[in-house]
Parts: sequence; structure tokens; C-alpha cells
Amino acid sequence: MVLPLASSAFAPLAPSDRPAFWAVTGRLGGVSRGPFNQANLADHVGDKLAAVSSNRASLATVVGLRSEQLVHMAPVHGASHAYVDSGGQAGEVDALITTSDTLGLVALGADCATVGIHAWGPESGVAIAAVHCGWKGLCADVLGATLSQLRSLGATKFQAVIGPAICGDCYQVGEERIRAVHEACPPDVALAALASTGGIDVRAGLFVALTVAGIPTQIVGGCTFENSEELFSYRRNNVTGRQGLVIRIGGASA
Ligand SMILES: [Zn+2]
Repeated sequence: MVLPLASSAFAPLAPSDRPAFWAVTGRLGGVSRGPFNQANLADHVGDKLAAVSSNRASLATVVGLRSEQLVHMAPVHGASHAYVDSGGQAGEVDALITTSDTLGLVALGADCATVGIHAWGPESGVAIAAVHCGWKGLCADVLGATLSQLRSLGATKFQAVIGPAICGDCYQVGEERIRAVHEACPPDVALAALASTGGIDVRAGLFVALTVAGIPTQIVGGCTFENSEELFSYRRNNVTGRQGLVIRIGGASA
């Protein structure tokens, strides 16, 4: 059984809104072995597919759904999103959006950040999004693109949760990437993301971007690189699993 690091429900944003239940996982629980020990959720990293299927089914149970109701994506480190109305693989995008209350949107990462968003508007009702974002996604502003899409659906109020990610001290990079973040991001976002000398903290940048947009945001989990007991880190282990964030409209068993 996949054991989430944390799970909770976003309270309704207005009387006509519905809650949105989310869970953030690490590597605890689950049946994967070896470098994917234990709760790997990715089917593209070399893990046994039967183990991944079992872990995904367990993740679905955490949010009161069946495995086939989960929606997965194949991130390409861009800013594209998919609006989805059925379970399964949504393709090469970095964000998923739905207004369906029978789907769980999944974002995976192993250093990259994952973001769950609960949105509501008086005309449109409730919508949710799951976002995958590394340094390229921060530069491409996948978060901003996702929020824009939610607004175009009618959303006016938002709240968000960000899963575990690598910190700036542990994600030391070349001058080229530092410059890319500096040039692509708004000054306050770049300042937060580049606070560690020589490193990029994507999650800090996302947190500031959400906060500046007036969106209450909570952070779950620490630095993926530093916490080898509980978290997968690609930079630390290279061959490794992926943890995840899942979000659905409604309560855990709604
Ligand atoms: Zn760190």
C-alpha cells in the first residue's frame, strides 16, 4: 500500500464549490524493489510494470478511485497542458486539467516539482489541475499557462499544493541554466529560484509565483536529494523511481 507523505482536502472556495482531495507520495509503501524501492509510480524508468500497476492502483485507492480513473502524462518539460475527460495516458504534456469528479490527475517527479491546483469560478464551478515542473518548466512558465487555461474556463479563485522537489543547494547547475532562469522568469520568481549561489530551487520559484498571484499554497515534503529514506531523487540515484501527486474533485471517497 502506497503511504502518502501527506493527504488532505482543499476546502471549498465558495458555497457552490466542492472540495478537492489530494495526496502527495514519496517512496514509502508500495511493492517496487531495488532502485525503485518502494512506491515508484512511473512506468518509463525500468521498474517492473506489474509493480508499477500495483502501486498506481494503491494510489488510486488513496483518493477513493480505481486505477483506470487515474490520468497520467508524459512530461516534456514544456508548458503544454491537456484538458482530460477520461482516464489513462494523456500524452506529452506537463499539465493536466479536468472538471470531472471521477478522475484523479497525477503528476510525477524525482527532483522536479509537482503542483496540485484547485480552482473555482461562479460560472464554471470547480476545476483541478496537476502540473509537472522542473527548471525548464519554470522558464517555460507551465504554471502560468495552466492558471491561464483555468481562468479561461471561468476560474476566479485558486488554492495549491506543491510536492517534494530538490533544493537549490543540492541542484547546482552551470551558468547557462542560471542565466536562462534569470532571463525567462519574472524578477521575484527568479530571485527566489536563484537564492542559493549556483543552484536553482524550482519549488521556491513556483511558491513565489503562486503567492504573487494571490493563491494560498502549501508545501509538502523536503528536498528530494537530501531525504533518501522517503524520497526519490534522479540527481542522487539516476536510476530511480518517481513519487507523485494526485488530485481529484470531491472527498477521498466521494
Ligand atoms: Zn537539498
